[in-house]
Amino acid sequence: MKITIAKTAGFCMGVRRAVDMVLDAANTETGTICTFGPLIHNPQVLAMLKEKGIPYITRIPDKAQGTVLIRAHGVPPQSRKALEDAGFHVIDATCPRVTRVQSIIEKHAKKGFHTIIIGDHDHPEVKGLMGYARERAHTVSSMDDLAALPIFARAVVVAQTTQDTLFYKKIKSWASENCPQYKIFDTICDSTEKRQAEVRKIAGENDAVIVVGGRESGNTRRLAEIAHETAEYSLHIEDPAEIEDHHIKALSQADSIAVTAGASTPNWIINRTFRTLEDNLLTKSSNPFTLPARKIRDFLLKTNLLLAFGAASLTYTCSRLQNIENIFIHSIIAMLYILSMQIMNNLFAIPSDRYNNPGRALFYGRHKVWLALTAIASGAAGIYLSFSTSILSFVIIVIMSLLGLLYNQKLFKATFRGRKISRIKDIPGSKTVLIALAWGTVSSLLPLLSTWGPESLSLAFAVSFTFTTAILFARTAFFALMDIQGDRISGKETLPILLGEKKSERLISRTLLFAALLMATAPFFNIVPYGTIFMAFIPLSMLYVVKAHEKRKIYSGMNLEFIMESQFLISGLIALVFL
Ligand code: SF4
Repeated sequence: MKITIAKTAGFCMGVRRAVDMVLDAANTETGTICTFGPLIHNPQVLAMLKEKGIPYITRIPDKAQGTVLIRAHGVPPQSRKALEDAGFHVIDATCPRVTRVQSIIEKHAKKGFHTIIIGDHDHPEVKGLMGYARERAHTVSSMDDLAALPIFARAVVVAQTTQDTLFYKKIKSWASENCPQYKIFDTICDSTEKRQAEVRKIAGENDAVIVVGGRESGNTRRLAEIAHETAEYSLHIEDPAEIEDHHIKALSQADSIAVTAGASTPNWIINRTFRTLEDNLLTKSSNPFTLPARKIRDFLLKTNLLLAFGAASLTYTCSRLQNIENIFIHSIIAMLYILSMQIMNNLFAIPSDRYNNPGRALFYGRHKVWLALTAIASGAAGIYLSFSTSILSFVIIVIMSLLGLLYNQKLFKATFRGRKISRIKDIPGSKTVLIALAWGTVSSLLPLLSTWGPESLSLAFAVSFTFTTAILFARTAFFALMDIQGDRISGKETLPILLGEKKSERLISRTLLFAALLMATAPFFNIVPYGTIFMAFIPLSMLYVVKAHEKRKIYSGMNLEFIMESQFLISGLIALVFL
């Protein structure tokens, strides 16, 4: 069975912009903050905003203070004025594409044109557009509505930005035939057009289509209607928890399933839907080894054992590159340290994992005590072993462990771009950089310190340290990129949030290319053994995974995590054979 996710699934530009604006405002504005109407039609996002102290109001009070944000749908100009008159500081997050339609209506209404809006009369965007039409607005939601209208001498025809494109085509041809004097504007947003075209396409190519998104969301409902009309089997869900046994039974008959989502559906709900399908459908393979193999994979990932073995393996590689002996003890120290820090990290990340990775959040919530004990025991064992190798290693690993423990604690007071910073965690991108440096240190520097001498600090160390920090930097930034929406709402300051998605993607790709180039060229300068060339395979295969994910050929899920986290283990195997 094949499960795919539509390329257009998830937040559109306007929704993403509105969510970013409200979260920025929550960090920079003083006083209370709310939105006028639900920010988007998605119950999960609304619940999270409420938790963050950003509720919504539906009525404009006589007197108010604080900040109010106008959502992507926009409002009638009268409402905006009433919000300002009440005393609110108003932030306007109306989508620029909706603003364009408002301007068309306003300009023509001033000249005496009637406005015919093709849309749902009660939809907030349509209500907002009507406010610009100077009481000469007419909403139309069917061909009969249109035919029932009087013929005006002058009128503009516009569509709600999320209207059905085929329906609007019919309206346009009727209007051009019967009322050639009407000015017709193409106002359906291209994001809506592409989403609807794709759902028609995937409905023809797959046995089942699942539409994910709020039932109150007009554009999601339209996707569900199209899927219902065109697909063999379709299902509209708000949350993957709604997928019941009888759905699974029906879906298990399909050879291919496509998942799409409305413009207001966050990516973590899409990813969770994918994981739910993966867990319930892909595990039912006829191969008797598939289920146990998946259980082992999930256990290794959730407990971070795979990553810890990877740290040991990478340390082995780095020690071979630097020609260091006593590799075994250094690999064990790295394994224990990474296991300890990673478990701690995941324990602190439970709030954001509730959105990004609910399976892991559940696992860490359930086994909090023994996981914390494992972290403490492995951390202590790592420190003890490092003491036996060199005093300097011991001091460094103690400092790094303390940094790890203090990462989430309030230590200072500062501001950056209007944001309050009181913990190391609040420093944008700190997690990505610190994890990369920590891996570089345990895998390259600590083994070197055990053989410390004037000749120790070599170019081989520089190559080994740079390689490890580069691939770890790329790996951590890549996972942060996948979690960007959940992290943003839960208040994490990751590198992709600081740089934006496109820049982060470029940075990750270039870092991996740099690491591959380093491994491919360093042997020719007699810095490291010739077998090092084969190590270029690691960053290149990571780059392949990153690109495949960008092109939606691999989806966020356990398989993707497993492939990515296994790379460090593979590095050890390459070192074993070629170094
Ligand atoms: S669907 Fe289009 S018009 Fe509507 S908010 Fe998104 S980008 Fe803007």
